[in-house]
Amino acid sequence: MELVLSPEDAAFRAEVRAFLQEKLPPDLANKSATGLRLGKDEHVRWQKILHEKGWVAANWPVEHGGTGWTAMQKHIFEEECAAAGAPPLIPFGLLMVAPVIMAFGNQAQKDRYLPRILRSDDWWCQGYSEPGSGSDLASLRTRAVRDGDHYVVNGQKTWTTLAQHADMMFTLVRTDDSGKRQEGITFLLIDMHSPGVTVQPITTMDGSQEINSVFLDDVRVPVENRIGEEGKGWTYAKYLLGHERTGIAGTGRSKAQLRRLKEIARSEMSGGRPLIEDPDFAQRIAQLELDLLSLESLVLRVLHDSKGAPGPEASFLKIKGTEVQQKLTELMMEAVGPYAAPFQPEAFREEHWNEEPAGPDYAPPLAAVYFNWRKASIYGGSNEIQRNIIAKAVLGL
Ligand SMILES: Cc1cc2nc3c(=O)[nH]c(=O)nc-3n(C[C@H](O)[C@H](O)[C@H](O)COP(=O)(O)OP(=O)(O)OC[C@H]3O[C@@H](n4cnc5c(N)ncnc54)[C@H](O)[C@@H]3O)c2cc1C
Repeated sequence: MELVLSPEDAAFRAEVRAFLQEKLPPDLANKSATGLRLGKDEHVRWQKILHEKGWVAANWPVEHGGTGWTAMQKHIFEEECAAAGAPPLIPFGLLMVAPVIMAFGNQAQKDRYLPRILRSDDWWCQGYSEPGSGSDLASLRTRAVRDGDHYVVNGQKTWTTLAQHADMMFTLVRTDDSGKRQEGITFLLIDMHSPGVTVQPITTMDGSQEINSVFLDDVRVPVENRIGEEGKGWTYAKYLLGHERTGIAGTGRSKAQLRRLKEIARSEMSGGRPLIEDPDFAQRIAQLELDLLSLESLVLRVLHDSKGAPGPEASFLKIKGTEVQQKLTELMMEAVGPYAAPFQPEAFREEHWNEEPAGPDYAPPLAAVYFNWRKASIYGGSNEIQRNIIAKAVLGL
């Protein structure tokens, strides 16, 4: 299946390509293409370049500085950025808290936070999960007690992605436990530089530092940092999760990874011929490509039908998107065989890593990437929980 582009969309694709050719710094593109991790400064540098062009907020309405693009234009942009090796946008500010601030924040909050998110002045993180409160998020125990014009917050958040870089955290806290669990939750914006905030790294199985525990000890948060009404945080949190799950589909990136898989399968030999000509392996690549193409059309449909505010149907995108992402890393490992087995996380992280590679150039990061992407079916709400949501909210079972 090929999506047929209108002349306007084809012209837009050409414009995006020309922009990326001119403005995407080669050092960032090289790092992304070879699977190296980018640092905070590198992510921020790229977001500021996009902001200068007015292209950093594809999902925002025009009045807040968004692009006003159609669903197809957003899709083309994502695809071209991934193909060129542009760094992914960090979603916590742009894609997650910003829509909540626009929908439920007051004017002062919109004026303060939205321009700072656009300019990447603040790095945001998401403080939802706690030890014992992941899938069952409504059981969360971090407590906020009102003290004059402040809340005093105590508790622990966990799995907080990139909190080590964060200036701000959007958080769910318990302000009341007298009634239904969901009704006692409040949505607060916490300044990560406040006294009482401690960030402690959790090392993932690929050896990297990406997630953290965040301890909150008597942290004073001004009441003006509360979004909407006290006790209504659950409603705002659910609104945000729909946005999170659409972004997780990541079809542009997966298409770029599929091209990489095919290149690897053309270079690797099996039974005296390129692996890509092996009927069994070729069939598995073809099946994956079909899954990716059907996901792509589903993303476009959901984005179009929901006018950018998807509901429970975003759960389909989360499940299928992460299954495709994980399958890609599996097939790359299989294609390279024993040379993908050495676990060399340094090759994944360090630009100046100069050890003799134990195989072809593309082999060293594969194991670390494979292990790292096991996370995808857990974060953003596990895929089992997404299936429960589909059963209840979409199928009405
Ligand atoms: C890499 C990574 C990054 C993350 N980043 C963030 C972040 O930035 N901010 C944040 O707030 N959170 C983050 N999370 C947390 C993530 O949202 C939770 O891990 C997830 O919601 C699952 O919760 P849990 O880990 O407590 O597992 P549990 O809820 O204990 O689940 C354990 C297992 O039981 C299954 N299960 C649980 N309940 C049910 C049920 N009712 N039906 C069927 N199966 C069920 C789950 O699917 C899972 O397989 C991140 C997680 C990871 C792995």
